[in-house]
Amino acid sequence: MDNCLFCKIANGEIESEIVYNDGKLIAFKDVNPQAPTHLLIIPKKHFATLMDIEESDRELMGSVCTVAKILAEKNDLEASGFRLVLNCGSGAGQSVFHVHFHLLGGRPMKWPPG
Ligand code: AMP
Repeated sequence: MDNCLFCKIANGEIESEIVYNDGKLIAFKDVNPQAPTHLLIIPKKHFATLMDIEESDRELMGSVCTVAKILAEKNDLEASGFRLVLNCGSGAGQSVFHVHFHLLGGRPMKWPPG
């Protein structure tokens, strides 16, 4: 997708600190971390929001949970806990319109989120 920041990160046009890449999903460090661990997990395939995925994307999107578990283990977050967040739409705080999951950990979390 032209002019999509996260597509450019996924194809290497824009640099980022990539911490995971399996060909279909990548994860990289958030530039403005909101917790000691703040990673973004994205499908390389472009979807502007979660509402753009289709039934055929079930396996791809489901695999995000497995990658979140792998990255939580790598960052020693199993015991302390962590949060996996997806903002869908500007009303929910989405600012980059390429589906991404925030993996946040390393500090206490409050509920409900703001
Ligand atoms: P959201 O508000 O849910 O759309 O989240 C977008 C996230 O992308 C924010 O946490 C930003 O800090 C992060 N972000 C924006 N630009 C970059 C970038 N170039 N590299 C890494 N993270 C970014």
